[in-house]
Amino acid sequence: SRVYRSHPTGYAAVDAICDYYNTLQSRTVKPDVQPGYLIKALPTSAPTTGQPFAEIAADFQKHIVPGLTHWQHGKFFAYFPACTTFESMLGDLYSSSVTNPGFNWTCSPACTELEQVVLDWMVDVLGLDKIFLTSSGRGGGIISGSASESALTAAIGARERALRVLTQQASNGALSLSDAIDVPDKRREENTAKLVMYGSTQTHSLGAKAAKILGLTFRALPVRAADNYALRGATLAAAVEEDIANGLIPFFAIGTVGTTSTGAVDYIAEIGQVVRAHPTMFLHIDSAWAGVAYALPETREELRLAEVNEYADSFCTNMHKWGLVGFDCSLFYVRERRDLTEALDVTPAFLRTKEGDEGSVIDYRNWQLALGRRFRSIKLWFVLRSYGVEGLQKHLRTGIEYCDELAKLVKASSNFEIVAPPSLSLLDFRLVPANAAHSEAELNALNRDLHARLVMHPDVHLTQTLLKSEESEVFCIRFAIGQNRTTLADVQEVWAIVEAEATRLLLKRKV
Ligand code: PLP
Repeated sequence: SRVYRSHPTGYAAVDAICDYYNTLQSRTVKPDVQPGYLIKALPTSAPTTGQPFAEIAADFQKHIVPGLTHWQHGKFFAYFPACTTFESMLGDLYSSSVTNPGFNWTCSPACTELEQVVLDWMVDVLGLDKIFLTSSGRGGGIISGSASESALTAAIGARERALRVLTQQASNGALSLSDAIDVPDKRREENTAKLVMYGSTQTHSLGAKAAKILGLTFRALPVRAADNYALRGATLAAAVEEDIANGLIPFFAIGTVGTTSTGAVDYIAEIGQVVRAHPTMFLHIDSAWAGVAYALPETREELRLAEVNEYADSFCTNMHKWGLVGFDCSLFYVRERRDLTEALDVTPAFLRTKEGDEGSVIDYRNWQLALGRRFRSIKLWFVLRSYGVEGLQKHLRTGIEYCDELAKLVKASSNFEIVAPPSLSLLDFRLVPANAAHSEAELNALNRDLHARLVMHPDVHLTQTLLKSEESEVFCIRFAIGQNRTTLADVQEVWAIVEAEATRLLLKRKV
């Protein structure tokens, strides 16, 4: 057809993508390339004249695919699942076909309004409090690029709110909180330097990074193995009191639901009560990986949803991890949208619009760090409609079921132990030889050796972690299930390799 002749490469590209998925399981999970492989293979400057697209697409297969780690492979169990679906890919394609920076409602009304609709759908799917609905007129949600960006944005909102509270306090209540924003406070710089953020040693590096970017202090508070590596309110309270006694100003706490290392769930109500007792403080819940599991009613209690609903000032979960939507799609909700807009609304004359001035629309630029933004809600809309809530739930339950099966295998193996309670689809294990006593340091060394062997194996991709608690420091290996292409056989086969490598290692060491 005429269309086909004028756009031949588009169809070929879709075919090539389908072929990739059809042959994916026959590939190894990890690539077999050395650092610099691609830099050596490609020219050092851009071509002067255009090249045929077929040639370019062929080079994608020749040079790029061999250097890919196949995150969509059924045997990918490293880091976290980063699922995608054809619906999500097509959503991204549609999005880039109408590319626009959607920063104001007026830029592209559909861009803003679809995001409002699907973010409200997700409040319902996840069982979040109705205050997080954008239609509540008070709270609301936005899609950001990453949980790190969401946490940084929350921290900026929290900082500005804390500074307003301090200005208001200094005026002895003569100012309301919203009036405080308009009062130039000469103590701003002085107060800012005293602000402190809190998380635990298990908080994702996004906490320390947000503090670094803002030039503030982040305190990584200790956790106990006996508490399954979850942060307790008493630990936070002690740190907050200590800082106040030293003239510092606590302003931001991160509670994690589903920590990166073990999937631990912080004691949100305990932490929330500490935060609530201090008017300068704000509670952000990072649930980047586990939060999508709120879509399952049966996990809500274990994941302390009611506590999140009661205490969170903001909440984040990534649909681009376990949620079937390709990177990037981080859902970021706030209880009070004012916390964002009062921190981030900077409106020069050229960005003013009639609707924005009237306050009848949302201009997402005032809720985020950048001006422009991608039309990410399309892929979320496509996935939610195509899978339905039941399809998403089925996918999540499959990951949990496979993890339960893996836990049985680990328990049945006399040389391994489960290090922390399995969390949803994540299991941490280590090698503990049955017939010999070992110190913790020896066990850590042994497990580092085992992991080093697994790193060499092209079909195994498992990441390691070091669990630091008040009691111990444990090196262990994480098995992160949740890929939508994973079968139970994939889990079993990779576990069999782990066991075989462990046997070889123990034989070599004559343990
Ligand atoms: N928070 C937690 C608990 C995570 O497990 C991860 C995973 O990488 C992140 C944050 C980082 O997410 P992002 O890459 O979206 O910033």
